[in-house]
Amino acid sequence: MDLGIKGKRALVCAASKGLGRGCAEALAAAGVDLVINSRTEADITQTAHEIAAKYGVSVTPVAADITTPEGRAKVLAVVAQADILVTNAGGPPPGNWQDWSRDDFIKAIDSNMLSAVALMQALVPAMMDRGWGRVVNITSQSVKSPIPALGLSNTARTGLTGFVAGMSRQVAGSGVCVNNLLPGIHDTDRATGLDGGVAKAKGITQAEARTQREATIPTGAYGTSDDFGATCAFLCSQQARFIVGQNILLDGGAVNATI
Ligand code: NAP
Repeated sequence: MDLGIKGKRALVCAASKGLGRGCAEALAAAGVDLVINSRTEADITQTAHEIAAKYGVSVTPVAADITTPEGRAKVLAVVAQADILVTNAGGPPPGNWQDWSRDDFIKAIDSNMLSAVALMQALVPAMMDRGWGRVVNITSQSVKSPIPALGLSNTARTGLTGFVAGMSRQVAGSGVCVNNLLPGIHDTDRATGLDGGVAKAKGITQAEARTQREATIPTGAYGTSDDFGATCAFLCSQQARFIVGQNILLDGGAVNATI
């Protein structure tokens, strides 16, 4: 399917690997020129070279921590205007509800709520002026179905979801569609790390932890970054112009709910 976005310009955050990279690759496959970001210079530069070589689009890497004002300023100095914004950052660590301090909550909210809000505030006004834009925020299935050990994530991402619910309806009349993509378990370093934590806590192997988790997913397997990226690219397409303020769950059916 032609997504109708060839020649558009996108900022994809936290994209040297995992879900962010999946989104960057799918947009590149649709002919979108990219600015991609993550913290580790060697990794983001390597990823930029690989995507540019594979898809023949322009890919500019920016090494910066997107959760800090300084990091965002560095990224926005390179991409002052974008047609497409994909917000993403690493997830907060697991833990116990009694142990998290105010500082832990502030850090999680800065990383997984306010950094996305700041990027939308920086880039969406010019999209509105041009009458076209797409924003996809990578959140989590924990917004719909909380994961108790990821309480910091549950808290911050639910806050972002509430913000987007209102803001997306305020900008839709100017041709800007803002939506959230909610990953269930996908085969990335993040999932490997979480499986490692479960293995340690339960005294089982990493492979056993994965097998146990796969058994909770109706499809019987983890999703891939390619699956995830394809959905992101569709939400950024011309065809997605009537999709506004939605929370799209990509979880292989793991959340057991009627709607
Ligand atoms: P991943 O495979 O660990 O990749 C994370 C990517 O983000 C890397 O490119 C990393 O590069 C970059 N990154 C991390 N922190 C950053 C920061 N502060 N600033 C800029 N870049 C940063 O993770 P993932 O699985 O793709 O997950 C992406 C997001 O989806 C996370 O928030 C995660 O919690 C959430 N999520 C994932 C799953 C899953 O199953 N994978 C499920 C639900 C939710 P550097 O380390 O070099 O910065």
